[in-house]
Amino acid sequence: MAERKHNFNAGPGALPRSVLEEVQQDLVDWKGTGMSVMEMSHRTPVYEGILFEARDVIASLYDLPDTHEVLFLQGGASLQFAMVPLNLGAGGAYANTGTWATKALEEARRVGFADEVWSSEKSGFKSVPGVHEVLEVPESATYFHYTSNNTIYGTQYQHRPRVGVPLVCDMSSDFLSRPVDVGAYDLIYAGAQKNAGPSGVTVVIGKKDLLRSFTGEATVPTMLRYATHAKNDSMYNTPNTFGIYVVGLVAKWVRDIGGLAAMHIVNQSKAQALYEALDAHPLVTGHAELASRSLMNVTFRLETPEQEKRLLARAESAGMEGLKGHRSVGGLRASIYNAVPEASVAALVDLIRGFAG
Ligand code: PMP
Repeated sequence: MAERKHNFNAGPGALPRSVLEEVQQDLVDWKGTGMSVMEMSHRTPVYEGILFEARDVIASLYDLPDTHEVLFLQGGASLQFAMVPLNLGAGGAYANTGTWATKALEEARRVGFADEVWSSEKSGFKSVPGVHEVLEVPESATYFHYTSNNTIYGTQYQHRPRVGVPLVCDMSSDFLSRPVDVGAYDLIYAGAQKNAGPSGVTVVIGKKDLLRSFTGEATVPTMLRYATHAKNDSMYNTPNTFGIYVVGLVAKWVRDIGGLAAMHIVNQSKAQALYEALDAHPLVTGHAELASRSLMNVTFRLETPEQEKRLLARAESAGMEGLKGHRSVGGLRASIYNAVPEASVAALVDLIRGFAG
């Protein structure tokens, strides 16, 4: 096999090599069934076993209370921007921390009223609300929605916002990366393609009461109701069978590393090594404010666009991919999700240390 790239893509992003190898080994004949997971009917005990195991491993990683359950949906995190207000009702309060949070807010406003209660737009989305900051969420809000990790800006909450209304979180880009008290949330969703698997699967974790009893408008289509999926074990219609299988393998890989606490320690150490190298470099400026820095997406700039081009070119010849910053922020971005090996981060650190302009 040709050498694998140092993959710093923002999503779809790196998957654990051992997961890919297991998929490869079982691709044509999954465990003696005589067929690939892709070719199985989802209405069989064998496939149900695969889906239920994926669901249960995620539940056990998060130590999920009985009050909550895991669903596998489609349509990406972007569809959740609409499903949240369609199911929980108009009147949500939103913290706007940049592109994806903005899109979630805009989509909620298509459904009805939605309130922007916090925004870092004026400062270029360099920060998220502080740990001790009191968010002014009206008691009448249907829910509070925030984005735990802002993939494009490289900012991340290091705490759970304390609000007096149901809590909803887009965890797309830090799902499975650290322990979270999921029981404190009414709803969490995450597109799988960063930390949890391939694109095409959205993991939703929520309170059973909320997921199973639809109280929205009668005009909300069947497929857009959580209850439809919850009451049918995520198999109301044909799910992304193969994607869910890979999500299950990735979840088991996290479990085998030692679970979310162990994963978090690895993620902290990778991020620390990279931020240290960046902070020590005279040509580098970070995008995110210190207290808002993300462990998943590290965003920075050099002094000139020419320097950035040169660094990117050197990175490319060193086998690194995905370091160009998102067009709305510019500069560079290293996405160092769970599956990005420490060796890849070490290679990037070396490259930055040796870069003189
Ligand atoms: N939320 C966040 C935080 C994201 O990073 C992304 C994708 N980059 C999305 C939502 C949108 O996800 P999807 O492409 O799965 O709709």
